[in-house]
Amino acid sequence: MIGGGQLARMAHQAGIPLGVRFKLLADTPQDSAAQVVSDVVLGDYRDLDTLRAFAAGCDVITFDHEHVPTEHLRALEADGIAVRPGPDALVNAQDKGVMRARLDSIGVPCPRHRIVTDPADVTAFADELKRDQGEALSAEGGGGRRAGGYPVVLKTVRGGYDGKGVWVVEDEQQAQAPFLAGVAVLAEEKVDFVRELAANVVRSPSGQAVAYPVVESVQENGVCAEVTAPAPDLDPALSDEAQQLALRIAGDLGIVGHLAVELFQTRDGRILVNELAMRPHNSGHWTQDGAVTSQFENHLRAVLDLPLGDPRPRAKWTVMVNVLGGDYPDMYHPFLHCMARDPGLKIHMYGKDVKPGRKVGHVNVFGDDLEDVRERARHAAAYLRGTITE
Ligand code: ADP
Repeated sequence: MIGGGQLARMAHQAGIPLGVRFKLLADTPQDSAAQVVSDVVLGDYRDLDTLRAFAAGCDVITFDHEHVPTEHLRALEADGIAVRPGPDALVNAQDKGVMRARLDSIGVPCPRHRIVTDPADVTAFADELKRDQGEALSAEGGGGRRAGGYPVVLKTVRGGYDGKGVWVVEDEQQAQAPFLAGVAVLAEEKVDFVRELAANVVRSPSGQAVAYPVVESVQENGVCAEVTAPAPDLDPALSDEAQQLALRIAGDLGIVGHLAVELFQTRDGRILVNELAMRPHNSGHWTQDGAVTSQFENHLRAVLDLPLGDPRPRAKWTVMVNVLGGDYPDMYHPFLHCMARDPGLKIHMYGKDVKPGRKVGHVNVFGDDLEDVRERARHAAAYLRGTITE
């Protein structure tokens, strides 16, 4: 696996019972996964020679992140290495412009969007949105700018994560910031969503695929905070539609491994695709304790072309809450409290230095009563972070 973050750490953990010989390419020995994997190569994933040397002893290469340059992945494939997911699929998780164009071509519903070249072009896009809504544009008065169809969401097509690289801009003045990075910029309508969902599926090279229940995810400041499985009160027809959509994307794009399809549920009962991740994903962490087969195990099975495991939930409800870095450099004392209070709590820490706001772990709680499960998961995450003390 290329990349030494927590996803690699948990994938390695899932491979232990299967006897998978797990080799890791990490940046530093302190990386979350490098702390626990025995076969670690330190090196730069942007360097082709490093990648080639690393891949030499591997049956298959897979990823903890989507940042390995596409051309390097093509070079590895040309060397005869099994790269899963392959570069043609992965580019859709690397470049939001490519992803939108590809999803359009297969008829997947997305927010209205367009690549924009400068702030004036953003206003032109905003005006288009407004025109399409059938609202007459008021004439420009007194030399002032039209409000247009602002707000508009701007995204750098590459390099964004956890809300970095995403701007909600109210006018042309604010639209300047994203262009400073010198990367192509994608403009999107600001979707009036009631909530965010994720449809997670896993597909093997043989074409077998499984779908996990559709989950609800809550973001705070662009970072995933909480996931509820299955999404409460989701119309079964919409849930089926979301699963079918994710399976179709996985098939049409030739994805191998875990695919997370992040979705917006709109006020008028539609689903639109926000983005794709082709690796285990935060919206699937609940599966470690709440599903028969975790996303990490199924990702490994898929990239190894093994039959996939049962994705069904083990409990009526599972809630996952992320633990962000807070006040405790040492988790021993908060562990005493949380474990004593709730023996059913499942804690997953990533071995990362505690820094304010950084994802350092998550907790899972499962059971029959959603309110109870949610309260226990939220309490534990807040206590481990240090925002509450009892
Ligand atoms: P990242 O690559 O950082 O995960 P996303 O594209 O997922 O970026 O955007 C981060 C968050 O910004 C989303 O989870 C959502 O809350 C909000 N967002 C993104 N695109 C839109 C949109 N078109 N309309 C409304 N909100 C959006």
